[in-house]
Amino acid sequence: MNHDRSRALFERAERVIVAGVNSPVRAFRAVGGQPPFIASGKGARITDVDGNEYVDYVGSWGPAILGHAHPDVISAVQAAASEGLSFGAPTEREVVFAELVTKLVPSLELIRCVSSGTEATMSAIRVARGFTGRELIVKFAGCYHGHADHLLVKAGSGAATFGEPDSAGVTSAVARTTLTLAFNDVAALRALFTARGSEIAAVIVEPVVGNMGCVPPVAGFLEAIVQECRNYGAISIFDEVMTGFRLGLSGAQGRYGLVPDLTTLGKIAGGGLPLAVYGGRRDIMSCVAPLGPVYQAGTLSGNPVAVSAGIATLERLDAALYERLETLGARLEAGLAGAAAQTGVSACVQRVGAMITLFFTRGPVLNFDDAARQDAGLFAKFHRGLLARGIYWPASMYEAAFFGACHTADDIDRTITAATDALAS
Ligand SMILES: *Cc1c(COP(=O)(O)O)cnc(C)c1O
Repeated sequence: MNHDRSRALFERAERVIVAGVNSPVRAFRAVGGQPPFIASGKGARITDVDGNEYVDYVGSWGPAILGHAHPDVISAVQAAASEGLSFGAPTEREVVFAELVTKLVPSLELIRCVSSGTEATMSAIRVARGFTGRELIVKFAGCYHGHADHLLVKAGSGAATFGEPDSAGVTSAVARTTLTLAFNDVAALRALFTARGSEIAAVIVEPVVGNMGCVPPVAGFLEAIVQECRNYGAISIFDEVMTGFRLGLSGAQGRYGLVPDLTTLGKIAGGGLPLAVYGGRRDIMSCVAPLGPVYQAGTLSGNPVAVSAGIATLERLDAALYERLETLGARLEAGLAGAAAQTGVSACVQRVGAMITLFFTRGPVLNFDDAARQDAGLFAKFHRGLLARGIYWPASMYEAAFFGACHTADDIDRTITAATDALAS
């Protein structure tokens, strides 16, 4: 595979863009080598600027559930764009989008559109604090909720501790209001509520984690979050920016039959354009300006082109699609597990719907400490081996892989063969 053009572009990029990329994982630092620059995508495939084609398991980190450049989504975007890109005033398209989203996810009684998942979680936290008049928020180590200051915190292992910032530039005063627990640790959650429940504004969680690799909730974990929040007057926030419309039409909350107080959506909701949503209980969301005292605004919020991509995408999701993704996923899951067994590599596969991770540790992976036990060197080699064989896999061992409507059984089988070869070498 020739990468001359990508290499040249990366050199130019590094001179003017931090590390040559506009989001860190794209720089391939964790896996070595250089990132291919993508020229185009169609369906399940992407093509780089040197003409190499890959089966794509990143899907823009989630949005591309219908595949790249779906003709109906593209024409919806073109139609909206031709009528003007942005007005900063209400438009019909954002109403249609909001009606669709609130119908698909019934816990969303009232929503706001924003432009990124980061903005959605940041705003949901502010609303929870405004509504409860409390300061503390609880998150789980290894869950990613965007890069707002108070969410860039994870604790050391074990029981809840006062947070240490994960990033330079986050003040300790902000970090101290974020308490961190281990994902899936119901006892620690209950103990924390017993100790400090009356100070807690919100618990935010990825109901199925994608941002430490795919880690499902153990039975009773999500229920405990919703229930403890209810008991203590705190707000449960399901961050479904990744799981929303990926794990089913009503996201993880539909799949597990739970009703959180607030929900955040992004990625698939915007069909590939910058669009995200936060919303939930009417009484809580009525705190947002101008109905209430919690301020939140955005020049491009509910942008007509972005919501048109969202509408066109959501309208094409149905139960048959999720059934098909389940079948494809089972095939990939069994194939990857078989590849690891056949090559004697210590690994485990975890999957929920169309999210999957091959962890380079025996497993099971229940929380971040488990995920951090992986052999990073082995993952890096695996990633390079896949790329050389035309498989575009997430360039971090802490990211779930995604597939969608355009992946075929043939693509999956090709991927399994490539994985087996990559693991063997
Ligand atoms: C991607 C992601 C975010 C952040 O969304 P951005 O649009 O990248 O700001 C937040 N939460 C979860 C669960 C995500 O996967």
